[in-house]
Amino acid sequence: LDRSNALYERARAAIAGGVSSDARRLPGTPLYLEKAHGSRLWDVDGNTYLDYVLGQGPAILGHSPELLAEAVSAQMRRGVTYSAQHLTEIEVAERVQSMVPCAELVRFNSVGSEAAHAAIRLARGHTGRPKIVKFEGHYHGWLDPVLFSVHPPVDQAGPGDQPVPVPGSAGVAAGQAADLVLTAWNDIEALTATIARHRGEIAAIVMEPVLCNTGAITPEEGYLAAVRQLCDDEGILLIFDEVITGFRLAPGGAQQRLGITPDLGVFGKAMAGGMQVSALAGKATVMESIAAGKVAHAGTFNSHPVAMAGARAVLELLDEKRDDIYPRMERLGRRLMDGIGAIASRLGVPMLIHGTGHLFQLYFTEATDIRNYRDFAATDRSAMARLHGLLLDEGINTVPRGLWFLSAAHTDEDIDQTLTAFEKALSRL
Ligand code: PMP
Repeated sequence: LDRSNALYERARAAIAGGVSSDARRLPGTPLYLEKAHGSRLWDVDGNTYLDYVLGQGPAILGHSPELLAEAVSAQMRRGVTYSAQHLTEIEVAERVQSMVPCAELVRFNSVGSEAAHAAIRLARGHTGRPKIVKFEGHYHGWLDPVLFSVHPPVDQAGPGDQPVPVPGSAGVAAGQAADLVLTAWNDIEALTATIARHRGEIAAIVMEPVLCNTGAITPEEGYLAAVRQLCDDEGILLIFDEVITGFRLAPGGAQQRLGITPDLGVFGKAMAGGMQVSALAGKATVMESIAAGKVAHAGTFNSHPVAMAGARAVLELLDEKRDDIYPRMERLGRRLMDGIGAIASRLGVPMLIHGTGHLFQLYFTEATDIRNYRDFAATDRSAMARLHGLLLDEGINTVPRGLWFLSAAHTDEDIDQTLTAFEKALSRL
């Protein structure tokens, strides 16, 4: 990795910390990539990797799909920043409306953090209440108003987790903390008690409907229905942050797969296959507060024509080929989950695997179940980070905390190759 190392040294002289995203790096050499195509990555030192990170989720059709390249370059030639209304944004909004259960009306931004921020502001503006209930281990972007911390407290965060500071840490106004209420997820008693303590003050409950930032955890039977009921009884808005699960777990996201419709949904990542488009979608009665200008929403790059051309092409394909793409991703992912499980038990390694196939998470643990962040935090996360490094050595790229994303570009041959590599990596661990 000589070239990657040299580039990293050069980067540190020009970019604070050497990187523009996570402030903290994993031990070892950071990879610099030269190209990415389909299910594969090529680094600057000539190594190839099978990729299960997909840019942290967006590349649902695989890397650089021809359809996206064409849509984007055609729009680029027609015009980039005419910063006005255009047909493409209407078509994307209509597509989101037809795919996503909660999407009676839609607004666009560029990245997930912005759309999550817009949802929080809308909830406060619409209800006139200040507080937001957020769950331990759930991530909603890095902006201050939704910056509730992934990890309570942050210094317990293991290798590979995103270093999100808690409110009150450097650069975050202390007052932010006062209106945030943190509680345990997948635990209806804890939530009921939390609501009772803040009755009449809570604008919204926000959650990842399938927890993906600290695990890949599907809520227990009945949990989401009970949360929905609590929200209805208490006049609280329910926000699903589907930045990871949207257009991935099903064409209509986790809300469609799990059959519970939130008041507002937040989307990003997969919806434009790798271009930067995010969306806030929700019930018309709530979205009307933005429509009427009561709650502010703006952005120079919102509905950027080039990015929206990407979203239109990707969503059209995901919608029209839904019966092919989603079952196939799930089948391939489940092949991996089953194969990895079989290897772990053959080698006598205590491991749990959770997920839907479209994405899944490995945990090193003796536990028989993982229900929420507290269980996740008790797993052996440093062993998982070491496995990540050993898998890279074998040409397999995964999210360091143990999360794997599937794409429509993965094949059965990729799965075979991955399982062979996995057995080697786990044996070395
Ligand atoms: N919400 C969730 C659930 C996420 O996983 C992320 C990003 N990992 C975000 C919001 C923030 O999105 P972005 O990084 O595009 O701002």
